[in-house]
Amino acid sequence: MNQSPVLFISHGAPTFALEPGQLGPQLQKLGAQLANVKAVLVVSPHWQTRDVRVATTPTPETVHDFGGFPAELYALQYPAKGQPELAGAAAKLLSAAGFAVGLDERRGLDHGAWVPLYHLLPRADMPTFQVSMPVSLTTAQAVAMGRALAPLRSQGVMIIGSGSMTHNLYEIRQPDARPETYALEFEAWVRTAILANAVQPLINYRAEAPHAERAHPTQEHFLPLLVALGALQEDDPVQVLNGGITHGVLSMESYVWGMPH
Ligand code: ZN
Repeated sequence: MNQSPVLFISHGAPTFALEPGQLGPQLQKLGAQLANVKAVLVVSPHWQTRDVRVATTPTPETVHDFGGFPAELYALQYPAKGQPELAGAAAKLLSAAGFAVGLDERRGLDHGAWVPLYHLLPRADMPTFQVSMPVSLTTAQAVAMGRALAPLRSQGVMIIGSGSMTHNLYEIRQPDARPETYALEFEAWVRTAILANAVQPLINYRAEAPHAERAHPTQEHFLPLLVALGALQEDDPVQVLNGGITHGVLSMESYVWGMPH
């Protein structure tokens, strides 16, 4: 049976919507090659809740959940429809896997969802729904969430973990600042593990990866990568999308699995 692809996309800063950089064109090219995808499920760090919530909103609004950015960023709209039926199926799968799950029929699309989709699917013509992350989510539980959602791939649901390969907002510099060595070293360590299909070191990344706490003072932008890993099958081919490093410290490295080459 055809399996829809799985992605991890680094969305970096909200201004990524206006500044495609290296990654934007790669996402656009990828989006144009998608086949057999009927809906998009996004796990974003910008929707954290006590238990898992699944958005069943029929027509989610574009939420500009950030402050102090240029006016044109607030004018952007991403009018994708929701997919309440598949969202309901996602909730059932998570519940069957032991997660406490609730539905949210009003939630819009936060910028962790719509900013990368603005490049990947610029026509906003693919039904899209979000799944939240519990605030207490551990790396192992994030993998379990992905594993629970994996059966949706055979129903045409593309699973996207949206986060950031590195995400230390205390160290943000100018957009074109020279990349910090620690961010490159963290990024390289993760890439090695991904290419080796080594999930356990990634579950233990805080102890094992170089500069893990500096790259992620908090975990929420890394956990969506673990959700994506949980949704994989062993034979899913992986492609690295080299997004470069913006603002000196934000690695935009992204991955797609399960796309035929
Ligand atoms: Zn973010």
